[in-house]
Amino acid sequence: MRILVLGGDGFCGWPTALHLSDLGHDVTIVDNLSRRAIDLELEVDSLTPIRPVSERIRVWREVSGREIGFVRLDLAAEYDRLVALLLEHRPDAIVHFAEQRAAPYSMRSQTAKRYTVDNNVRATHNLLAALAATGIDAALVHLGTMGVYGYGWSGSAPIPEGYLTVKLDTPDGELKREILHPANPGSVYHLTKTLDQLMFAFYASNDQLRITDLHQGIVWGTQTPQTERDERLINRFDYDGDYGTVLNRFLMQAAVGHPLTVHGTGGQTRAFIHIRDTVRCVQIALENPPEPGAKPAVFNQITETHRVADLAKLVSGLTGIEIAHLPNPRQEAVENDLVVRNDRFLALGLNPTTLSEGLLAEITEIAERYRHRVDPHKIIARSVWRPGMETSPDLVD
Ligand code: NAD
Repeated sequence: MRILVLGGDGFCGWPTALHLSDLGHDVTIVDNLSRRAIDLELEVDSLTPIRPVSERIRVWREVSGREIGFVRLDLAAEYDRLVALLLEHRPDAIVHFAEQRAAPYSMRSQTAKRYTVDNNVRATHNLLAALAATGIDAALVHLGTMGVYGYGWSGSAPIPEGYLTVKLDTPDGELKREILHPANPGSVYHLTKTLDQLMFAFYASNDQLRITDLHQGIVWGTQTPQTERDERLINRFDYDGDYGTVLNRFLMQAAVGHPLTVHGTGGQTRAFIHIRDTVRCVQIALENPPEPGAKPAVFNQITETHRVADLAKLVSGLTGIEIAHLPNPRQEAVENDLVVRNDRFLALGLNPTTLSEGLLAEITEIAERYRHRVDPHKIIARSVWRPGMETSPDLVD
């Protein structure tokens, strides 16, 4: 297949591009390199030494003999170039990772809120409008998030894969309808992902676009079999207060002897997936697209759920590092249950990597190996959800 990987220089996009190339697909990365620019803005860097995109592609050619193309393009701002690119490449499939993806960053300031909405909503809509305008019948796979469902539902009813069957009372009796699960975003970032869902529903029905929306959990882990082939292919590992997801933060904190920072009680339950399974899930979704005219297919792309406090205990038990409880900068339920249906990927052959198998390798091969690159002052989350709330102080001198 000819595949465009939008956002293919990012944490999920780069290993996905390599995985698809390794399978023999003709891959072109499209990225405006905004994520690298945000690193400069925040004065942070990936814990792992990621190389410039042209060097990554050159090294991949050396180790695999395979070509990956690269087009620097801003999906949110360069609509005409996007149309021209689609007409030139005529892709069979498109994977769309190209959005601002950090909830804390999206809540950092008025500027960051507006940027996140402008970038994400326009990028997705430009893509859909361009596909409809060009008539290119590519299978589109988008990376959404479990956060569109929200984490505040009480009780332990399982979260279905995208759609809910509701019963309506009518004068003629009971009627059943399948609707999108109600959205309950917890940040401006998550809000953009809920808006994406409506745009997908509209373009699937109005223009018969074939769309799969993957409601992904928090991705952990760094390497895939492809990124491990040469150190210059290494994937990014974000540990800072805005982009570092909770488990990566604990792993890195443990490696440098920093207390593991749990926000609030740690009773928040979240869904997780290893990066190796992310790339497999994207492949499975590409191989099983919906029919034209069908509603968007939704898969819950998660393999495990854990309470944040239990994750901290796990890492603390493996490394001996203490746990520190900090005030929660987010507006969210203190504790929540989370039961998620993920039958569709398992039925299509996904064999998940569990935390118990992969955690130790992350500690020794990534966090400890690159700990000399850490700036410990960047670890604590600086973005707060409540106006006027103080940020937590540094726990290091
Ligand atoms: P990332 O920030 O590392 O990668 C996103 C890439 O998209 C970056 O390289 C960035 O430069 C590019 N990009 C952003 N806006 C663009 C634009 N307007 N035009 C062109 N390129 C643009 O993020 P990631 O962690 O790889 O996440 C990828 C996708 O997966 C995101 O949509 C995110 O919401 C979703 N997701 C990620 C996680 C996670 O834990 N990382 C969890 C759930 C969902």
